[in-house]
Amino acid sequence: MAWYKQLHWQILIGMALGTLFGVVAAQNGWGQFTADWVAPFGTIFLNLLKLIAMPLVITSLICGVASLSDFKKLSRMGGKTIGLYLATTAVAVTIGLLVVNAIKPGDRLPDETKAQLEAKYQADATKRQEATETVKERGPLQPLIDMVPDNFFGSASSNRNMLQIVFFSLLAGIALVQVREEKRRPVFEVISGLQELVIRITFLIMLFAPIGVFALIASTITNMAGEDPSQILSLLGSLAWYCLAVIIGLLLHACIVYLGLLKTLTPLTIPRFFRSIGQAQLLAFSTSSSGATLPVTMKCAEEKLGVSREVSSFVLPLGATINMDGTALYQAVAAVFIAQASGIDLTTGAQITIVLTAVLASVGTAAVPGAGIVMLIIILEAINVPAAGIALILGVDRILDMCRTAVNVTGDTAVTAVIAASEKQLDPPPVPNA
Ligand code: ASP
Repeated sequence: MAWYKQLHWQILIGMALGTLFGVVAAQNGWGQFTADWVAPFGTIFLNLLKLIAMPLVITSLICGVASLSDFKKLSRMGGKTIGLYLATTAVAVTIGLLVVNAIKPGDRLPDETKAQLEAKYQADATKRQEATETVKERGPLQPLIDMVPDNFFGSASSNRNMLQIVFFSLLAGIALVQVREEKRRPVFEVISGLQELVIRITFLIMLFAPIGVFALIASTITNMAGEDPSQILSLLGSLAWYCLAVIIGLLLHACIVYLGLLKTLTPLTIPRFFRSIGQAQLLAFSTSSSGATLPVTMKCAEEKLGVSREVSSFVLPLGATINMDGTALYQAVAAVFIAQASGIDLTTGAQITIVLTAVLASVGTAAVPGAGIVMLIIILEAINVPAAGIALILGVDRILDMCRTAVNVTGDTAVTAVIAASEKQLDPPPVPNA
């Protein structure tokens, strides 16, 4: 097949053209035109992906758990999955802390830039702070209470409630195993048929991916540029050390942790792994949502990496909801950066608090764009750093969100490959097809 007929190349071309169009549009003041005539295609694409995320999580997890059939297997796989997810996130936060303490981006931020950023993003920062106000006021066990829904339809009505839906689906899967065979079989057949249907819908949606990605990237650029395109560069310039710290941290994490895990615990070669999940990574980067990317992540894991449906149905929906290494790493770097810029010295105790709260906060972060910065406020509160400091980093958050979401998705697939290999359910096809 000619290379340009392969979907990942088409997506890459969509991204490149979107970047080009975004820059030209920003320079020529076509912001309104882009918002009216280009951005809607990005929104439609994103809505389509979000539309199937919830049905996919429900059907996959119920089938995934129910097909594990014996509880020994379920608890073994569940234990390994959650253990590996939490461990990789804790390592991600530690890498983030090491990098930010070595580079010290906050100390390098000139006072006048600080004042400018604070003045410019203050209003937006206050809005987000108010959003977390209620979160702060609640008791220590509130996150646990939040996981348990009191109305299925209430939870299923918003992608932000994915953790509640994960809880319900796990419960339903476990209960289904205990139902009598003659009743269980038809229920299982219907749910797995629905899962198949959702996967087919994913195929159809992905045909639209190159155009959707083009529109998403172009509108992200024109939105950031606003009235004055040169401000993207000057913003990136003034926060260059901070952005660099996040990006170096993300790269180190991917190279050391994921590549290490894959090399030692799976038969996959590194180029093979990246070729197989390229589509999911590109989509995560352009949508900034690991929830919206989930259908494609599952498709890549099953068809190209050769992970069994049994493992991917269980491990990936769980990962998209609770495993966010990129987000946790970014939260650690951002928290220390804001502390440094505010002239606050963080003790070792405060840094350990960051590790604990960032791991928990990333579990509770919704898999949607911009969720990470809201949970960052909780970390800042925990270490007594003024939450208003997020004004310093808001301007570049979307770009870093794209990068951390790509790492979140890479982490989910790496762990899935490791779990599948350990369960002897990883059977890579001979040649990865496009
Ligand atoms: N956008 C990220 C995700 O969906 C979450 C975040 O860090 O904001 O994975």
